[in-house]
Amino acid sequence: MSHNITELDLKRLLEHAHIGVVIHRWDTSIVYANPAALRLLRLSYEQIIGKDAFDPQWAFLDDSGKSLLVEDYPVNKVKRMKHHLSNEVIGVIDGSKEDVSWFMINAYHEGEAGSDDCFIIVTFSDVSDSKKLFSFQDIVENTQDVVIVTEAGEIDYPTGPKIVYVNKAFETLTGYKRKDAIGETPRILQGVLTDKTSKGRIHSALKSNQSASETLLNYDIKGRPYWIEMNIIPLKNKYGDVTHFAAIERDVSERKFHIEQLEKRNNDLKILKRDLEKLVKERTIELQKANAKLEKMAFFDPLTNIPNRRYFIDQTNKLMKFCNRRGLVFALGLIDIDNFKILNDSYGHDGGDIVLKELARYFYGFFRSDDAICRYGGEEFAFAMALNNESDADKVTLRLLMGIRDLTIQINSDVVLSITTSIGVKLVDASHHLDLKDIINQADRALYQSKREGKNKVTIYQ
Ligand code: GH3
Ligand code: MG
Ligand code: MG
Repeated sequence: MSHNITELDLKRLLEHAHIGVVIHRWDTSIVYANPAALRLLRLSYEQIIGKDAFDPQWAFLDDSGKSLLVEDYPVNKVKRMKHHLSNEVIGVIDGSKEDVSWFMINAYHEGEAGSDDCFIIVTFSDVSDSKKLFSFQDIVENTQDVVIVTEAGEIDYPTGPKIVYVNKAFETLTGYKRKDAIGETPRILQGVLTDKTSKGRIHSALKSNQSASETLLNYDIKGRPYWIEMNIIPLKNKYGDVTHFAAIERDVSERKFHIEQLEKRNNDLKILKRDLEKLVKERTIELQKANAKLEKMAFFDPLTNIPNRRYFIDQTNKLMKFCNRRGLVFALGLIDIDNFKILNDSYGHDGGDIVLKELARYFYGFFRSDDAICRYGGEEFAFAMALNNESDADKVTLRLLMGIRDLTIQINSDVVLSITTSIGVKLVDASHHLDLKDIINQADRALYQSKREGKNKVTIYQ
């Protein structure tokens, strides 16, 4: 069975066409609009049928965006000029939408102009995508930032990604002409000092169709290096597939230089700060040492390193109270080195010092931690202790006297000597109360008695 072309159902064709078709009478009232026309104009069949070109629900713009006079509407133009319009681009604003829909329009009349069976046929298709009020292409082309578009398909070394577009700024910055750059890869801009980890990050971002931001060292056609800050954006087609990457790059060499200078200065400051902190730390340690020394000096004798009189008095007062509470005997003794002046004269002041230090060392071994000892002054030492009873005093002090006498003190490689001391002791029973000053006084008198009685002796004050 064969069909003749004249047997085609033209109405059916109109109903299925993607081109909008509107049919007017000569008076411009609409008698037919196909589904594509209703869709493009966003109107229902009832809304459009019977309306004419003067209906205020539309406003038309010409190619350059200016408002179109009613007599220049396509249907009126055909009516007036009585010949067809071909491929005119006009913008349509309807009440439902803010932005302009751009249509490519063809229009002609069918039948004898002005007669009742004359129709004006207007066909149109949406060209909004290619017709905008201004050109983004122009912006991209003329921006100060470098714009590079590459294909997304093949991004690997050495051929991919392939450059398909570069703007004017690219030519200016890199020195490469557009015709030379297209078909190449952005790798032509990289060099030995281009950071490999940054490059790696970009590559893996591209591999997973992600955007990326990096600051990177690039080189121009003559090999001059410059810093760029770049954003790479994946570009998708209408099916959502990433087909291209756009890199937008800015020369930040000057800023980078400033930042480097700043970083350098910061680093210098950091070092300075560290040095200062070190100095302060050292000083603090020195100060702490000095403080410790001062503190020690306040309580310890610097030569012998045993407590001084001040510390001793404080400690002794506590010991006295302790004895009083516990019913113990409090003993206070003064020890004076015999003939120390002669020793000093024979072996020098340093020799004397060695003796003082050795004696102090001996005391540390002899006395217990509960006992109090000190360098009372010059070659005189004092001690205080708690005794269970008065008879213990003789034993302890005699042991002390003998112990000191048995010491062998090395003054230098040639001289080893011994010393004797005289000791005076005052004992205080717990039932009695005496002032420490009086106790010391009485011990001193006992000491004086030991001296008077030939030295190397203990006297207990009676
Ligand atoms: P005596 O047996 O009567 O106690 O006679 P002495 O010589 O020990 O007593 P004197 O008080 O006459 O002399 C004490 C000497 O101790 C006088 C002083 O130069 C000396 N001396 C005091 N303090 C120190 C010191 O820190 N180092 C040294 N090397 N000598 C000191
Ligand atoms: Mg003395
Ligand atoms: Mg003496």
